[in-house]
Amino acid sequence: MSLSKPVLLSLTRLRQAQTDNFSNLYTENKMKYYSLNKQSPVADFATATILGQAPDKGLYFPEIIPQVSKELIDNIENYSNEAIAFEVIKPYIGDAIPKDVLEKIVAETVSFEIPLVKITDAIFSLELFHGPTLAFKDVGARFMSRCLGYFATQSQTKEKITVLVATSGDTGGAVANGFYDVEGVEVVILYPSGKVSSVQEKQLTTLGKNIHALEVDGTFDECQQMVKAAFADVELNQKIKLTSANSINVARWLPQQFYYFYLYKQWKDKTNPPVVTVPSGNFGNICAGLLAQQSCLPIKHFIAACNVNDTVPDFLRTGNYQPKKAVPTISNAMDVGDPSNFIRIMQMFYHQKNSLDKTLTGFTITDNETKETLVSVLKKHNYLLDPHGAVAYNALQQYHAQHPNAKGVILETAHPVKFYDVIEPLTNQKVPVPASVEEQIKKEKMSVKISADTNLLKEFLLR
Ligand SMILES: *Cc1c(COP(=O)(O)O)cnc(C)c1O
Repeated sequence: MSLSKPVLLSLTRLRQAQTDNFSNLYTENKMKYYSLNKQSPVADFATATILGQAPDKGLYFPEIIPQVSKELIDNIENYSNEAIAFEVIKPYIGDAIPKDVLEKIVAETVSFEIPLVKITDAIFSLELFHGPTLAFKDVGARFMSRCLGYFATQSQTKEKITVLVATSGDTGGAVANGFYDVEGVEVVILYPSGKVSSVQEKQLTTLGKNIHALEVDGTFDECQQMVKAAFADVELNQKIKLTSANSINVARWLPQQFYYFYLYKQWKDKTNPPVVTVPSGNFGNICAGLLAQQSCLPIKHFIAACNVNDTVPDFLRTGNYQPKKAVPTISNAMDVGDPSNFIRIMQMFYHQKNSLDKTLTGFTITDNETKETLVSVLKKHNYLLDPHGAVAYNALQQYHAQHPNAKGVILETAHPVKFYDVIEPLTNQKVPVPASVEEQIKKEKMSVKISADTNLLKEFLLR
């Protein structure tokens, strides 16, 4: 991937947004998204959400980065989570969704707690795993599903939208749950047979109704190739309206800003804003955090915590962006060798690495360090991390060694029970199973087995 030159247009618009005229622009209610490949026309929120990726294969990026009001920041404790979410997302939606519908969508998106828990005097954990599938991806998936559902009901033809997605584990569950029973939307999830954890498989296969799980006799890469081939198939796309629920979709990316605001809402020492450590794979989550910061949310610094799939930390150290082949680790949701969202981060910093360096530090954490951290934090502080949270914790400790006065937060992106097979042999303890998971494990798996053949996928989609 080449990190291309800054887009002058967006620079001008951002500057314009930061002048007094901003409120005029903003009440125009016409947020537009342009493609970072700069060949496709601009799109509104609805089009960007339905297409996922621009026709020129670029990622969509907002033409302006709106600023939240000082009133919200100064009085954030007095706002409900729903109200914060609404204020943050409203300018990105423009008039694509009416106010009352958007209020309902954000209320359903953030209908679970996101607590900030103290681990030590200097390290806190923002627990993002209290949603229905026990990982932070619930927030983006719930928001996107409801937006797509609304657009489906608005479409003139009332044509069903089919969401097609390949998963290596976490995404599938969040997407299945988020889209469950959403009118006008069918979901087809491909997963590699025998290669997802048992909890993950149940999250994909037990819902029924509009959720269809295809159990592919093959690898995750083969599932992904089948999905790509389906999107490229002209005949298929003439017959059905296909879209992806991929993490690059603006409707999954943008709502991830919410929890950085909830973090600040619960942060006691407002004069000393937090250093935020994000376990990162495709860099969507941390990219949303940086966007929140550019929208005026006080955050002192960001840390990108990676496992040995460290293309970005390597770039931050050397200035050389070199995609790598992903290698498997125990924090497997971060096994990404060429993170798709990093281009958005570069765009936010106008491709100036030295200005990015002032805001973002990267760390590489090995599986052994991850395991040691997981065990020692449980022993010393009686707090059970999942492997992704442990990567973040270790990175924050390393940052503390250089910045002893910094107070930091790790984003705990998944519930440890999702990775009990890794954790239990380390701690010699059972990971407590939440009641919702026990219910799900009891349910019957429903999947359609197919071999890794695009023609069979096509047949299924046209059934
Ligand atoms: C997806 C995921 C990540 C990585 O998030 P990105 O937005 O891809 O950087 C981290 N932890 C868990 C548990 C995940 O599921």
